[in-house]
Amino acid sequence: AVEVHDVHKWYGTHRVLDGVNLTVRPGEVTVILGPSGSGKSTLLRVVNHLEKPEIGHVSINGEPIGVRRHGGRLRELSERTILTQRSRIGFVFQNFNLFPHLTVLDNVAAAPVATRKLTRAAAQELARELLGRVGLADKAGAYPRQLSGGQQQRVAIARALALRPGVILFDEPTSALDPELVGEVLAVIKDLATSGTTLVIVTHEIGFAREVADRVVFIDEGKIVEQGPPSEVLDTPQHERTRDFLSKVL
Ligand code: ATP
Ligand code: MG
Repeated sequence: AVEVHDVHKWYGTHRVLDGVNLTVRPGEVTVILGPSGSGKSTLLRVVNHLEKPEIGHVSINGEPIGVRRHGGRLRELSERTILTQRSRIGFVFQNFNLFPHLTVLDNVAAAPVATRKLTRAAAQELARELLGRVGLADKAGAYPRQLSGGQQQRVAIARALALRPGVILFDEPTSALDPELVGEVLAVIKDLATSGTTLVIVTHEIGFAREVADRVVFIDEGKIVEQGPPSEVLDTPQHERTRDFLSKVL
């Protein structure tokens, strides 16, 4: 399970996360909704320790991320250990972030080789398998600039899968795409969801949330306002702020 324990994050005097507690169980799909600036990206970045919270911590399967317990306190781990921990968490960004100078195949194969988990040959075999899974077996030799946005994002998902992460975080994976390309990316994410991968997805795609989420979390001003099954949070929200937000995005 991914557990966010009482996380507080400030930028200067601006409190961006204000006591967030969240548990994501293995195989669960959690969709995070909230207005712009509410702290959604920051929360994902805290989960893989790209941002360090001022208070609180995140643990995955009981192991704290980025810190270790020392007496009663938490101490920052070495950068090297943090990188190892981070390799167990997949991250898919809004803007794909592929390596432009590498082929599609090498984009997917790079991390398992760099982390010495696989030989180059084995990593390329895995990459071909994963590209098949996202429907891009025929693009292995192409470069990112030769692909559509939807295809690039599917490569990014294959790349995230290559380290066999325990959880994959998605930060608005379809919001940079032309509308006609959104469906192909959501279909790949839906395939992961139904195959039991643990997913945390920030998105404004409410229809998709209703279809795939086990739990919807609504966050506003750095606080979880409400959470529950999509039928509850989306159809019968209990809080005015949730109702207000949904009336704007639906
Ligand atoms: P959006 O839907 O627009 O992506 P968000 O919910 O993902 O919004 P965050 O990106 O987490 O919001 O930002 C939350 C708040 O923290 C915003 O007010 C933002 O301006 C501020 N913020 C984010 N990153 C930094 C930073 N590195 N330095 C200072 N302030 C930041
Ligand atoms: Mg964001």
